[in-house]
Amino acid sequence: MTKALIVTANGGSDVLQVRDVDVPPPGPGQAQIKVAATGVNFIDVYQRQGVYPIPTPFTLGMEGAGEVVAVGDGVDLRPGDRVAWAMSLGSAAGLSNQPAPQLVPVPDGVPLTTAAAAMLQGMTAHYLVNSTYAVQPGDIALVHAAAGGVGQLLVQLITAKGGRVIATAGSAEKLAIAEGLGADVLINYRDTDDLADAVRAATGGRGVDVAYDGVGKDTFDASLASLRPRGMLVLFGGASGQVPPFDLQRLNAGGSLFVTRPTLAHYVLDREELLWRGGEILGALADGSLHLEIGGEWPLAEAATAYDTLESRASTGKLLLLP
Ligand code: NDP
Repeated sequence: MTKALIVTANGGSDVLQVRDVDVPPPGPGQAQIKVAATGVNFIDVYQRQGVYPIPTPFTLGMEGAGEVVAVGDGVDLRPGDRVAWAMSLGSAAGLSNQPAPQLVPVPDGVPLTTAAAAMLQGMTAHYLVNSTYAVQPGDIALVHAAAGGVGQLLVQLITAKGGRVIATAGSAEKLAIAEGLGADVLINYRDTDDLADAVRAATGGRGVDVAYDGVGKDTFDASLASLRPRGMLVLFGGASGQVPPFDLQRLNAGGSLFVTRPTLAHYVLDREELLWRGGEILGALADGSLHLEIGGEWPLAEAATAYDTLESRASTGKLLLLP
């Protein structure tokens, strides 16, 4: 038996309950992990609400890190190995059976809590700046919610590549975090009447090369209007709500623009790609070149508070549950 965080029905954070569940021995190709920490992510919110439908009840949690305690047939891991993973449902539990091909080794010197915090948002930031739009030195990128989990990592990865960041956030404190991580231009989008105008003014009227938008509904129009001709809008989430259907002619009128709506699963298509992205992010944490803020930690029993904090815009950095 183990404690697991169960979504009992679709709805708000009040549908979350900790229950005792049976954990079978790991099957072929699986490792059983004693979970040290599991990440709090917007994808969990979309699954809990039913925006991404999953039959209830189910165990929540799409990422984590911990120590292997047992392995099934054909698994080349040993008890005591430290591993981390992302995009695998059922992670918010004391013990979790995970498919071994999804597991990334955690380097010495990286605490398991840090590894759990880095996997989903870190690999997301990695594919966004390396693969969806490959940032070049001198590029100007607009990053919304720049003090958030993905946002803080984006600011650092873009500036490390020689790009410049125009950061938005909802408070002066959050903007100060983005500035500390290397953002060049800071815009509080809660006090700005015309966000696209403010972004364009900061680029001398040219527009940005790329807009990384995980806020969605509230920022999409401004992101599109902030692009230079042939610029790219990368819509990677909808923290404020999903973007409604969209007239493709707006891309023509706006300057032969590009829009994409990527998701992490399609950027870790095989083990080689997973180890590249996960390895670079964990490696950067190990050598200190990447900073990851843990903005809050709660026991499983207080998961509702953790999700309320994320959903109410109260958080900065990464939120974790400690099973
Ligand atoms: P964050 O830590 O960034 O939290 C969300 C932030 O969005 C808030 O802190 C807030 O910052 C901002 N925000 C603006 N409007 C709202 C609103 N109405 N409600 C809530 N938040 C709002 O979260 P994550 O880093 O976990 O995720 C950021 C985005 O990235 C999400 O949309 C998520 O779905 C997406 N994502 C996408 C992935 C992919 O592969 N496509 C993978 C991982 C995450 P502020 O107060 O500064 O406005």
